[in-house]
Amino acid sequence: MKRKRVLITGAAGFLGSHLADRFIKEGYHVIGMDNLITGDLRNIGHLFKLEQFEFYHHDVSKFIHIPGDLDFILHFASPASPIDYLKIPIQTLKVGSLGTHNCLGLAKAKNARILVASTSEVYGDPLVHPQTEEYWGNVNPVGPRGVYDEAKRFQEAMTMAYHTFHHVDTRIVRIFNTYGPRMRLNDGRALPAFIGQALRGEDLTVFGDGSQTRSFCYVDDLIEGIYRLLMSNYHFPVNIGNPDEISLLDFAKEILELTGNKVKIVFKPLPVDDPKQREPDITKAKQILGWEPKVNRKEGLKITYNYFKSLPEEEWRKQPKEFVSNK
Ligand code: NAD
Repeated sequence: MKRKRVLITGAAGFLGSHLADRFIKEGYHVIGMDNLITGDLRNIGHLFKLEQFEFYHHDVSKFIHIPGDLDFILHFASPASPIDYLKIPIQTLKVGSLGTHNCLGLAKAKNARILVASTSEVYGDPLVHPQTEEYWGNVNPVGPRGVYDEAKRFQEAMTMAYHTFHHVDTRIVRIFNTYGPRMRLNDGRALPAFIGQALRGEDLTVFGDGSQTRSFCYVDDLIEGIYRLLMSNYHFPVNIGNPDEISLLDFAKEILELTGNKVKIVFKPLPVDDPKQREPDITKAKQILGWEPKVNRKEGLKITYNYFKSLPEEEWRKQPKEFVSNK
């Protein structure tokens, strides 16, 4: 029987590479596409020897050509951490807008189902807590984070328009902070930043007074949620995340306990437009997908810490130029 074919953009990134693994495991032919701007081929190095995997080094903001049929498209290409999108703001806007347009056009041409990766950042600094899919958000379009948040909001609008006007079979996942192996230690997100600092024996940097909250989802749980959403028939956005909310200060303390490190926690001023609260309402995911997270933070952190520790020392010696936020 012919294998179903799935295109994954951003396949060399953190989430894209885990999705590629999942679809290979499910028996699909996986086509990975990435321009490697924030990704790393080592994340998918183990897949190159498989005949059911192929890779295109390509910028999805430019026209995409894929020979043959496609059953599914998963559009995950986009810088995702503040350090990245503050460094490459225009590419971030382009991949969320032009890149999404190209993927939707491809889905229409191939009659493929497409799922786009949106984000909890569409809620901005939310005035509703926890965040339900019906909340429209509180985003500053001209603030530094606007390049990411607005690109993703445009992505959602474009995806719905293709659904409504071209009858393309679309899915939108709103992903909340996810962590796990293959994150980059120096990408500036809270968890790798804290673990990297702890491994290097540096003090942990908390922005503001650390009372701002985040909710961290382990990557295996997220991938399961995405898989179920793709296989569902629901076209509106669905939050996927772990509602177990924690303040950044408590989170930093958990990392110190996990690593057994005796360093201090130091405080820096809160960056512009930093969200103060973040917690997904996952009622929809539970009802529509029968999904809820299974891996608790203690377990997930341990796996992730062991992954980072197993990397060659020069990897965790690498530091981000500066920490910009505790995303
Ligand atoms: P990542 O940086 O590890 O992966 C993104 C990948 O996309 C990289 O491999 C990068 O090289 C590639 N890419 C970027 N621009 C591209 C372009 N123009 N053409 C081709 N490839 C391009 O980030 P991630 O954490 O894996 O995030 C993946 C997706 O999930 C992103 O769309 C992000 O917005 C979304 N998301 C992630 C999280 C999270 O917690 N990790 C939360 C919300 C949303």
